[in-house]
Amino acid sequence: MRCSCQICGTYMVQSEGLEKGCVCPACRARCKQCLGTDSVVPREALSAAALRFLEDAVEIEDAIINEKGIMSEDDDHDPYRD
Ligand SMILES: [Zn+2]
Ligand SMILES: [Zn+2]
Repeated sequence: MRCSCQICGTYMVQSEGLEKGCVCPACRARCKQCLGTDSVVPREALSAAALRFLEDAVEIEDAIINEKGIMSEDDDHDPYRD
């Protein structure tokens, strides 16, 4: 897997130093995007956090819908109950 330099477009080569990633032979720009998990949040952690957020959002939405549903049901049924 090779990247092209974001600055000059040259094909980058793998950096063999302490800093992993690739380095542009032309302008010395470095790239870590190809490593994926190095400086970015791992995809598993990201989706877990996103799922937790979505679950919370759904719970809140359900609570709102339930409240509204009960309220509208009361409105519908009260006249017929009497
Ligand atoms: Zn470059
Ligand atoms: Zn790269």
